[in-house]
Amino acid sequence: MSGIKPARRWQPAFYPFKRESFGKRLLAKAEICVKGPLFGCRMCGNCLLQETAFICPMECPKGMRNGPCGGITPEKNCYVDETRKCIWHAIYKRALKTGREEMLLEVLPPLDWNKVGTETWGDVIRQVRKIGTGKFINGILSKDKEEKREVWNSVFKTIRQPEWWQGDAEYHPAPSGGPVSNLETRLREGEFVVATEVTPPLSTGTDRLIRDIEMVKPFVTAINFTDSSSARPKMSGIACCKVAVDQKAEPVFQIAARDTTRTGLQSTIIGAGAMGIKNVLCITGDNSIIGPSPTSTMNFVDIDSVQMLWIIRKMRDESNYLDGRNFKNPPKLFLGAATSPFASDPVLQAIKDHKKVNAGAQFFQTNLIFDPERLDLWLEQLDKRNILNKIFILIGVAPLKSFKIAQYLHLKVPGVSLPDKILKRMEKAGDSAPEEGVQIALEVIDSVKRKQGINGIHIMTLTWESIVERIVTESGLVAPKPPFTSFRAGSKGGLKP
Ligand code: SF4
Repeated sequence: MSGIKPARRWQPAFYPFKRESFGKRLLAKAEICVKGPLFGCRMCGNCLLQETAFICPMECPKGMRNGPCGGITPEKNCYVDETRKCIWHAIYKRALKTGREEMLLEVLPPLDWNKVGTETWGDVIRQVRKIGTGKFINGILSKDKEEKREVWNSVFKTIRQPEWWQGDAEYHPAPSGGPVSNLETRLREGEFVVATEVTPPLSTGTDRLIRDIEMVKPFVTAINFTDSSSARPKMSGIACCKVAVDQKAEPVFQIAARDTTRTGLQSTIIGAGAMGIKNVLCITGDNSIIGPSPTSTMNFVDIDSVQMLWIIRKMRDESNYLDGRNFKNPPKLFLGAATSPFASDPVLQAIKDHKKVNAGAQFFQTNLIFDPERLDLWLEQLDKRNILNKIFILIGVAPLKSFKIAQYLHLKVPGVSLPDKILKRMEKAGDSAPEEGVQIALEVIDSVKRKQGINGIHIMTLTWESIVERIVTESGLVAPKPPFTSFRAGSKGGLKP
């Protein structure tokens, strides 16, 4: 347990993969002896403490390096281990208290595993020598805030932002040149868009998948395929997307960081581009703690969803792999991210969402919303950050089929909460629960339709695909859809970039 950090450690400190020289080992020992008790340091060798309010983010079981996942419990605990506080919540709180919250916007790199377990003090010493020890000390002691910041960054930014990453806190709009998918076209034209999801099959048979795609296709603009939701294996998202493309439906390809390495992500994106997939949604993914036994690794993601957005955006806009190799024919993609407006305080949630927009997100699909009035606080925070005009927002809506499902979502699914009145309505409905669930969904849609900054809905069917037609029709959202191949590339449209 450290001296001033607010939580206990999830894991012991990392160890280097290879045997280091005696001098380096000694320095590493000294570093852990100081930074361990003070900041909860786990010796990741890729130190970010200056950007994370001096609390080590590597205490997060998922190893998130760019902010919290959507899984903070109402008690601000971590859903992977509910006996401990979410370390990212602690980081955000301290950053807000000390006026360092804007530092949380810098897109931070994934670990360089070659450095894991080794010291970073050597890098700091080398960098200080490079700019001049005297200049560094004078700068740090300077009363001029700007000078202090500059000197500080000349040492620490170089360390935390290696050549191969160069993350920043800037907004990087997609290149002009028109929309790349039907979903993007419709959003840009100001249409209130409907997307839905079709549950991937458990087996190799595609009959049911094709039937469900055909069933929802006339009523929606795009179809999501979940990526092993609830950490339960099913047909892969990319296979489902290929089936959808073959059926002339427009897929949204969900990629969960949980099962993705940086190498795998880049290869998959090239493959997705080759298959005609145009919409990609980057999500962290449910931790295996909520999946079936035997439980898979709970304690690490190689790249988080912000890093996924950053990598894919650079592949699309700069034709670059992470290792610097250049390639031809970059994929044309409309990039999305998931967000969980009620996962934590709206002020904190908006910081994470801001970072995703900066990293490359062009649209958000939210977690399930049953209490649309609460959305206003979150939208207000996005507006304050001036990002509401940079992102299209699709609100997650679900038709509840039973009281049991309502309870499960409320109690078990991270980031989803159902107000008491909804739970009571579902309980009271008895055998009419499915009808009550549809009415609740229609009420949510009616409410979000009238909110400024909301651009559509995303119907999460919870395996009830046949209800999509009724929901879309009764909510007055049905519109004739041109086939997938006829998206109007080059259309300017344009409520948002
Ligand atoms: S809730 Fe999410 S971000 Fe917070 S510590 Fe747990 S896994 Fe990490």
